[in-house]
Amino acid sequence: MTPSDKPEAPRRSLPARLARTWGIPLVLGTLIALVWMKYVSPTNGSAEFADVPKPSAVNGDRAYGYLKKICEIGPRMAGTEANTRQRNLVAAHFKSMGGTVHEQKFASRHPLTGKRVDMVNLVGSWFPERTERVVLGAHYDTRPFPDRDPDPANRRKPFIGANDGASGVALLMEIAHHLKESPTPWGVDLVLFDGEELVYESDEGERRGDYFLGSKEFARQYKAESKRGKMRYLAGFVLDMVGGKELTIPVEPMSQKLAGNLVREVWGIADRLNSRAFQQNLGREVLDDHLPLNDARIPTIDIIDFEFPYWHTANDVPEECSGKSLAEVGRVMTAWLNQPRPTKTPKR
Ligand SMILES: [Zn+2]
Repeated sequence: MTPSDKPEAPRRSLPARLARTWGIPLVLGTLIALVWMKYVSPTNGSAEFADVPKPSAVNGDRAYGYLKKICEIGPRMAGTEANTRQRNLVAAHFKSMGGTVHEQKFASRHPLTGKRVDMVNLVGSWFPERTERVVLGAHYDTRPFPDRDPDPANRRKPFIGANDGASGVALLMEIAHHLKESPTPWGVDLVLFDGEELVYESDEGERRGDYFLGSKEFARQYKAESKRGKMRYLAGFVLDMVGGKELTIPVEPMSQKLAGNLVREVWGIADRLNSRAFQQNLGREVLDDHLPLNDARIPTIDIIDFEFPYWHTANDVPEECSGKSLAEVGRVMTAWLNQPRPTKTPKR
C-alpha cells in the first residue's frame, strides 16, 4: 500500500460532531430517510442496483503471470523472432480458450536500414457468426530502446516493455478466459497490433519511423471487408499501459471527442464498480492505435495510463506492474462486454 492509500488520521468528523449535538433524533431521522429511499421513493436506487454491471471473475494473479511470461521472452520489436514467439504463444492461448485465430500479414521498411520488415496482426475471434462485433486491441511489439530514460547511459539498453506492450496483451489473454461463457450480445475480437512503435528517437528528439503500422493495416482491411460483407464493429477499445502499480486512467481527450458515448459508458461502469484507477477528469491527449480505428469509422477509445513514471525507460519492468491493476481494468472491460443488450454507440 502506498501513502496515498492510507486513510487519514482519525479526526472527529462533521457527522460525529452533529451526532454529539443532535444524538438520537438525527440517527432515527437518518434511518427513516434511508428506509424511505429504499422502499418508498419513486426515484429510489433499486432500478440502478438492478443494473449494476457484472464483471467476469477476472484473475489478476493469472494476468500478471502472463505479463511476466511475455517479458521473459525479452524485447519484442516488430520483425524479430521474439515478436513471433510471443504471437504464437498468444495464438495458442486464444485457441485453447475457444477462439478462432487468424493473422493479418503486412510489411514495412526498417526506419534505419530500409530493409523489409514483415509484420503480423493477430486476431482472435469469439462468436464469429455474429455480424455486430466489438474489438479490444493492444500493441504487442516493443519500442527498440528505452530512449526516454533519464540516464543517457540507459538509452541504448534493452527495452522490456512490461507496461508498454506486455500489459495490454496480458490483459487480453486474461479476458480470453471469460469470453466463451460471456453473456455478451456481440461478437468479440481480441487483436494484437504489430508495429505500433518501430520508432527510433535521438537524444535531440529526432524521430525515425512511423507509429501505428499494425492498427493502420487493421483499419485498412476492415474498411475493405465492411464494404463487401455485413460485419461491422460497433465499438473499439485500445488497452495500453494498463498494468502500472499506481494505475491512473483519466479520460483521454481524443477518445472523448471521437467516441464520447463509449467514454461515458466505460467510465460510468468504472464509477459504479468503485474503480479508483478510472478518473473522471480529462488526461493528456495521446496519439495511439485508437486513431486509425476511428478513421475506419469504428468508435474507439484509448484506455491508457499515460502517467506511468517509467514510460519508455529501462525501468518499464514487471516489478513496476501489478495484477491488481490488470484486474481492475479487466473487471470494467468485462462488465461492459457482459451488458445484457446493446447500448447506444455513436452513429457516425
Ligand atoms: Zn511506447
